[in-house]
Amino acid sequence: MAKRKHIPIRTCIICRHTFTKNELIRLAMREEGVFEDKKKKYLGRGAYVCHKQECLAKVLTNERKCLDRAFRRKVKFLNLFDLNRKEAKEALQGVK
Ligand SMILES: [Zn+2]
Repeated sequence: MAKRKHIPIRTCIICRHTFTKNELIRLAMREEGVFEDKKKKYLGRGAYVCHKQECLAKVLTNERKCLDRAFRRKVKFLNLFDLNRKEAKEALQGVK
């Protein structure tokens, strides 16, 4: 029998559903704020969010301090606007 490849499972910080890592957007934090870690390689604590519009919207607005909790520190500034994905834009429009 072929060896099964290990697929990392991560949890969306908003809806708490689990997904394989590839299905999620990785967020990381640096001085300027939280940003999308597109290459999924930035060192340090990462947080994952799924592609659902409601989840993206909540992350983008840091609803209920979800990011503060995920990163265990105060998130001052979100630098997520390089999220070029259509669903992210739509999510933001829904918030305004
Ligand atoms: Zn989600």
